Amino acid sequence: MIEKEPLHTTLTRRRFLKKGVLLGIGLGGLTALTRPLAQAFSKGKALTPYEAKYYKKLAGELIQCQMCFRRCLVPEGGRGFCRNKQNRKGKYYTLVYARPCSLQIDPIEKEPVFHMLPGISIFCTATASCNNRCKFCHNWHISQRSVEELDNYQLLPEEVVKLAKKEDCAALSFTYSEPTVFYEYMFDIARKAKENNLRVLYHTNGSINSEPLFALLKYMDAVTVDLKGFSEKFYREVSSSELAPVLETLKNIKKTKVHLEVVNLVIPTLNDDLKMIRQMCQWIGKNLGKDVPLHFNRFFPAYKLTKLPPTPIETLEKAREIGREEGLRYIYVGNAPGHKYNSTFCPGCQKRLIQRIHFKVLENHIVGGKCKFCGHPIPGIWS
Ligand code: SF4
Repeated sequence: MIEKEPLHTTLTRRRFLKKGVLLGIGLGGLTALTRPLAQAFSKGKALTPYEAKYYKKLAGELIQCQMCFRRCLVPEGGRGFCRNKQNRKGKYYTLVYARPCSLQIDPIEKEPVFHMLPGISIFCTATASCNNRCKFCHNWHISQRSVEELDNYQLLPEEVVKLAKKEDCAALSFTYSEPTVFYEYMFDIARKAKENNLRVLYHTNGSINSEPLFALLKYMDAVTVDLKGFSEKFYREVSSSELAPVLETLKNIKKTKVHLEVVNLVIPTLNDDLKMIRQMCQWIGKNLGKDVPLHFNRFFPAYKLTKLPPTPIETLEKAREIGREEGLRYIYVGNAPGHKYNSTFCPGCQKRLIQRIHFKVLENHIVGGKCKFCGHPIPGIWS
């Protein structure tokens, strides 16, 4: 049974903008294209318990969560690794349903999603916490916090969709922290958004089991997956996580019609080994196809990795060149505003199709899903 608590506050745009503070937006938040909406007013209120999806009841009051590879075993009163779910007398509850900590309007390019409706505004939602512990997280202010440590809105799924429409956003996105840890909320918002003819996408670390993933993908148009490195050692030591479940998620998304883009944040000394990058590109080409857009993003010092330097641009360019040698057709250099490969080039005639500076679209020469100059089909969602 799901317990509901009525919303006490109606949010208006004026109110958002008046008190807006930037929460959990990473590097992209520096752009003037981003419109922060997040503000805080519900700190200290009682949590809203909603029954979680995908868990098993075991002997006694023990619970095993089935949402991600961790499959947390949670005793009565305990919480899962992601901090967002609690066993209360043998029932498992999400503590973040209708409790977003960040609401913001971004350009779709910030996700990054480069092969879907260039230049549209997306309405982004996030709650507290994550099921990884990445030492480089740019959004650690929210991803490495529990719900009680943050200021949160109270906003039901239908209200999120209503706000997105009011703000003229063509799509909703779940991003900043890890959406898998607020799955129930994301799922209901996505379903409502589809009923309202809106597009839906999300940005994930890929740590989600296949059953909840396939159920969710029915309501998704696009997914951006972080492929943080290409070794179990890197995942274990830098993210306290595992690579294999992410690869499984990527292959599962590929089985569907949902548009997929992949991001690799290249961190000096940790995952910038060019042999490892080549293996990753080979795996992508073989398992996801050569048309999947791949973003090599620049690292900037953050969270627990403030002693490392930003990624040299040459490293990103070498990574891109390796991807090209392995036959990948759409490889981008990200977090490097003004770089030539922020833009999309036609693999047929090599002409520039979408000119971008960082997240801003200046020109678009894709017509009907094809290159305007030579007619080469370009994968993605264009209308
Ligand atoms: S979603 Fe959270 S509680 Fe469930 S298995 Fe993953 S980390 Fe554990």
